[in-house]
Parts: sequence; structure tokens; C-alpha cells
Amino acid sequence: MILPGAGSLRKIAVVGRGTAGSLAAASVTHLLPDGDCELHHIYDSRIPVIGVGEGSWPSLVQRLRQLTKLPHEAVQQRLKGTRKYGVAFEGWGRRNRDFTHYFTPQQVSYAYHLSADLMTDLLHESTRARHIDARVLDITRVEGGAQVEFEGLAPERYDLVFDARGFPGTMRPEHHIDIPFIPTNTAVIRRCPAIVEGEEDGPVLQHTYTRAVARPHGWIFVIPLTVHTSCGYIFNRDISGLDDVESDFDAFLETDGVREFEQRAVIPFPNFVHRRMYDGAVARIGNAAAFMEPLEATAIVSAQLQIGMVLHMRLNRRAEDVERDAPVVNRFLVGNMLCYGLFVGWHYSCGSMYDSEFWRHARDHAWPGYRKAADPELVGCAALRKFDDMLELLNQPVIDTADWNRMCAVPLTSYAQMSQGLGCQP
Ligand SMILES: Cc1cc2nc3c(=O)[nH]c(=O)nc-3n(C[C@H](O)[C@H](O)[C@H](O)COP(=O)(O)OP(=O)(O)OC[C@H]3O[C@@H](n4cnc5c(N)ncnc54)[C@H](O)[C@@H]3O)c2cc1C
Repeated sequence: MILPGAGSLRKIAVVGRGTAGSLAAASVTHLLPDGDCELHHIYDSRIPVIGVGEGSWPSLVQRLRQLTKLPHEAVQQRLKGTRKYGVAFEGWGRRNRDFTHYFTPQQVSYAYHLSADLMTDLLHESTRARHIDARVLDITRVEGGAQVEFEGLAPERYDLVFDARGFPGTMRPEHHIDIPFIPTNTAVIRRCPAIVEGEEDGPVLQHTYTRAVARPHGWIFVIPLTVHTSCGYIFNRDISGLDDVESDFDAFLETDGVREFEQRAVIPFPNFVHRRMYDGAVARIGNAAAFMEPLEATAIVSAQLQIGMVLHMRLNRRAEDVERDAPVVNRFLVGNMLCYGLFVGWHYSCGSMYDSEFWRHARDHAWPGYRKAADPELVGCAALRKFDDMLELLNQPVIDTADWNRMCAVPLTSYAQMSQGLGCQP
């Protein structure tokens, strides 16, 4: 196949070895044959990866098979994974009724619950690169590419750099779009015994679901892997104290019959989208590009989109089109990430079974600010209009077949299921 842009991609760097950087390095290896392109995979082994991120979307199943060239069954076993058919919501919305958000087609399409560490190991086996263990001090644009500055090493110039260094250190309004309508900002992570048993000679076929359980201070995820069950309490540290959250977490696990667990981490996180995810030579990906709390497991699928879009454009368009394409690609990616943000924030719009300070804040203060925060004038993209269009479609008595496949980051079927489940419609 003739790839008009391949000639302008002779030297690529991926900075970061978390989920996003590992996906990018394996994707470059897959698309650009050895010899035509030099790939440097750069990371600082003194800076740990986040290492949580056990939920995914169905597109990852195909992607991992392509990248690893292993059969699906082998990939799932290597990930100590289970098959995720959707998210089971407990206690959310105004209907006082539990419900499931299925991937569609329902009971057919599945994603993985996976061990994030094992996924990066698997991706490294599928990556051909020079590995550089060094701290990156800066990544700057230079004529026709980008320059990476290292601590203790000479700078290097690249045709394309994927910046996967994780969460930005500080949030600056000129660089980052804040997502204040998502009301959470901290996670307590615990590891509990496995509730799904691994098979000796094949993958676990049982249908599993991520549980998303509303609690007075936020919500708890329960993700079943074959080696352990990952649990996390997602809350707002400006509203609830850590002690209160820990003790409600204890109570939840006790009611669930979980007698032992390993305390893993307390992780503060921002909800944001970087205004400049791609400028033609530097592509921010993963948590460096955008993040929103893990309610719908949107991080890995976002990294897949960011990497796929940038590589697709660079390979299929001529070198002279790169500068003109960059703002268009950037606007598309920013819009898509913000659509994920709107979809996730909307989950809080009908409150939950709890009339607690957290849920009153989420429903009555945080979510109602979404129109102001996503104002097209301020964010430079049409995410809000796309989101409005989705809600408008749901209000129609009959949805035209031509609209069935419409998306606002996620398909219309996801909006319909959440709207029904939460009781958003009158
Ligand atoms: C509570 C929680 C739950 C989550 N659950 C899910 C989920 O269910 N599903 C999902 O898809 N996602 C989930 N995520 C998101 C998931 O964690 C991210 O997809 C994943 O962490 C991607 O991280 P990353 O690779 O961008 O960054 P990181 O994992 O932070 O990796 C950063 C990398 O950059 C390197 N680095 C940093 N600075 C430098 C430097 N100066 N020089 C050189 N190297 C550097 C580090 O060494 C590291 O290798 C969750 C996140 C949180 C916080």
C-alpha cells in the first residue's frame, strides 16, 4: 500500500511507558516497517505509571489482536482478563432501579477487564524500539518536527513525538479546558480477592460487568479479573473527608462479604481536556491529553483514538498537508474528548438514591454548569451541540433509522440506555 506520508516519518519518539505510551509504541511498530522508521521509546523508570485502568471498550479487543498478532483467547489469558459486556449501575438516577449499560449489540459485543500492568508488558513484546531510560525536560516544536531535551543526554530531533507523560503538573486555563461539571476528583484503590476463577486451558467465557455502585460520598467500581478484583471509591475530596470515605468503603465491602483487601493507593485526578492535543509534530496522548473520572472507562479508548487519528493522518496525507491538517485533527480530538466528558457528567444529572451533600452538589451545582463550561466560544469545538443533538433525538417519538448510528463520543444506544436507566426523560 502506498502511504504518501510515510517518507516524512523517519524518526519517531514515544515519551512515557504507561498504557498510552505503550499503545503508541506498539502502534508505530505495527504500521511502520522496521528499517523505514527509527522508533525511540523514552521513559523515566523513576517515575511510576498510574497502573490502574482495568476497564475498556470493545475496540480494544480487535486492537490488541492486531498489535500482538495473538489469538483473542491468548490475549485475554495473558491479561488475566474477563469479558466485560457493560457497566451495571446500582443506586443511580431517580428511578430507584438498578440497570445495565450494555455495549451494543447487547450480549454480543464485549471489551476486557484487564490488568493494566500485564497489558503494557504484552504491548512491549510487540514493540521494536530503542529504549531510552531518561528524564525528558522539554519537548519543543522545531522546523519540520520536534526536539526532545533530556536530563544528562544530548537533545534529539524527531519527525513526530507522542507525549504520554501522564497528568500535567498544573492546570492552566490557557492550556487546559476544565470539566467542573464532573463532581469527583479522587480515588481510593483497593485490591480484593478474585470472584471470577481463571480456567486452566482457556479464557473465562462468563459474561462480566463493571459494577458502578452509588454511595453517599460518590460511587464504587468493582472490576473482576481472574487474579483479583479491583475496587475503587471515587469521591470529591473538597466535600468528603478521606476517613469518612474509607469507613464507607469498609462498610460496602463487608456487606459484599469481602473480608480481606490490600490498600493500594489514593489518587487525586483532574477532569480536563488539553486545548492543544496535536500540533502537527507533537501529539499529546493518554492522561497528558485529557482525563475524566473512570465511570465509563474512557481513558484507554481515548488513547486509542488519539494515536490512531494522528498516525492515520500523518501516513495518509502528504508532508505538505501536515500544517493545514493539524488544527482540524486537534479540533476533532478536543471535541471528542469533551463529548466523553459531557456523557460522563450527565450520569450525575438525576442524582442517586442518596440525598447526601455529595449528591446534592453533583446534581444541583456541578452538572448544571455544563453549558457554560462547554460553551463553543470558550472551548473552540462543537461538543455541546453534538451532545444537545443526542438528547434531542432521545426526546423524539420515533428515531429515524438514518440516526441510529449517530455518535457523540459513544453511540446513541449508550445515551438511550443511560437516559432510561437514570430516568432522565419525563
Ligand atoms: C482511579 C482511576 C481509575 C481508572 N480506571 C480506568 C479504566 O477503568 N479504564 C481506562 O481506560 N482507564 C482508566 N483510568 C485511566 C488509566 O489510568 C489511564 O488510561 C492510564 O493511566 C494512562 O496513563 P498514561 O499512560 O497516560 O500515563 P501514566 O500511567 O501516568 O504514565 C506516564 C509515563 O510517563 C513517564 N514519564 C513521566 N514524566 C516523564 C518525564 N519527564 N520523562 C520521561 N518519562 C516520563 C513515566 O515514567 C510513565 O512511564 C483510570 C485512572 C484512574 C486515576
